Amino acid sequence: MSFDDRYPPQSPYSTGFWGRCPRCGDGHMFTGFLDVRNKCEICELDLKFADAGDGPAVFVTLFAGFLLLGMALFVQMTFAPPVWLLMLIFTPLTLLVCIGMLRPLKGILIALQFRNKAEQGRLE
Ligand SMILES: [Zn+2]
Repeated sequence: MSFDDRYPPQSPYSTGFWGRCPRCGDGHMFTGFLDVRNKCEICELDLKFADAGDGPAVFVTLFAGFLLLGMALFVQMTFAPPVWLLMLIFTPLTLLVCIGMLRPLKGILIALQFRNKAEQGRLE
């Protein structure tokens, strides 16, 4: 994991959001929905360092909880719809927002790991 003069520095936010390689910005970071490749197909960056852990799920929980709970409370206080209508609206919306945010947030966290050279502490 190192910066290479052949590749200009990439923004970890745009490369991570779009699931691109954090070094070259052209290769793909993921093989499936959330599975990280072993290495980039363009610059051959070894992506085994990538371990976002629970980070994306934590951020999704915080963002989606704040956003959707706020929206549900606003709708309930303003329009007072029946509970079945709230569930009909907010259950699929919650799934869409949570699942939709997972991959970009995982990509951003992995790109930030690469950018900041974050790794496990080691005794020399
Ligand atoms: Zn690459």
